Amino acid sequence: MISIPKKIIEKIAEHAKRDYPIEACGYLTGKDGVVSDIIKMTNTDKSNEHFSFDPNEQFQAVKYARSRGESLIAVYHSHPETPARMSKEDIRLANDVNMKYIIYSVKDDDIKCFSIDKDKNVSEVKIAPV
Ligand SMILES: [Zn+2]
Repeated sequence: MISIPKKIIEKIAEHAKRDYPIEACGYLTGKDGVVSDIIKMTNTDKSNEHFSFDPNEQFQAVKYARSRGESLIAVYHSHPETPARMSKEDIRLANDVNMKYIIYSVKDDDIKCFSIDKDKNVSEVKIAPV
């Protein structure tokens, strides 16, 4: 389970709609499965089907989380035209078993969270709005 403040879920949706039709992406900081802040990132791919982070922004994001005594506990991105599930490409790029992967579908106004194991099996993680 992951606890995400409603305000942050709204910010993810806003970011996704703002960047539409390009995929929006970013990190959520927090600890012990509780999210406390959102870091909007630039999708350097400028694509509606995949995203990449800017390495410098990534470094700043890690630094910001650490300065709060937290870490980056989730990556989020939007699916402009497809449902909120892990695509083949999302699974291919997901390599961190401790990370949560959040997908917001603009088309369905739906948000889901996933994790992967070392064999790349995907499981859905329940989102508890707080
Ligand atoms: Zn995706």
